[in-house]
Amino acid sequence: MGMISNNLQQVRAQIAQACTDCGRNANEVTLLAVSKTFGPEAVREAYAAGQRSFGENYIQEGEEKIASLQDLGDLVWHMIGPIQSNKTRVIAENFAWAHSVDRLKTAQRLSAQRPPHLPALQVCIQVNIDGGVNKSGVPPQDAQALAKEVAQLPHLQLRGIMVIPEPTIDLIAAAEIFQRARSLFDIISAQHAGVDTLSMGMSADLPAAIAQGSTMVRVGTAIFGKRSP
Ligand SMILES: *Cc1c(COP(=O)(O)O)cnc(C)c1O
Repeated sequence: MGMISNNLQQVRAQIAQACTDCGRNANEVTLLAVSKTFGPEAVREAYAAGQRSFGENYIQEGEEKIASLQDLGDLVWHMIGPIQSNKTRVIAENFAWAHSVDRLKTAQRLSAQRPPHLPALQVCIQVNIDGGVNKSGVPPQDAQALAKEVAQLPHLQLRGIMVIPEPTIDLIAAAEIFQRARSLFDIISAQHAGVDTLSMGMSADLPAAIAQGSTMVRVGTAIFGKRSP
């Protein structure tokens, strides 16, 4: 068995264990494989091991990878990196999801540029949940207003929120931040039909994120290995 399929099995087992530990069902958590910086062959290996959802951070890299993997047919591509408003068209035309929408202008462009023959672009609002400086994401107090605007755009489907807390070794502080994201998610999901996604947790912190209600973990390193800088 190749390294990637072996890693995938381990990550799936880790998700299942984290779910068991907090009394959740493992099928409530979707694994998003973050393939940024890795080539199409790595995606093919993960695909062969049953993985279908993949996350990319960089527009041009993502566009090229998606084009070279067209033959696989049922891949689901998620944009998870910062979105510059002059790069929205590539996302609207190539991706199924965007997790990193943090401005109305970006959302409006994505909606206007979504090709009519494609289903609505599935959108999460990125929230700067721990107030980190120089960080992407809408401030928590503005998230509900942005969600309301996004929900009204015709070619977008509001699905939830995405957070990237600062890495910390303080487990209690980390849990508290995840809990804050969960509370905000609960509020927004009560306000909008179809909101079911709390995108939170990465290789280093996925058990803690799952314990606080994550429904989608974004895992790169633990599946594909260390990224070269
Ligand atoms: C790179 C990245 C990940 C994956 O991080 P790992 O630590 O490699 O699992 C998840 N989410 C976002 C937004 C990322 O940019």
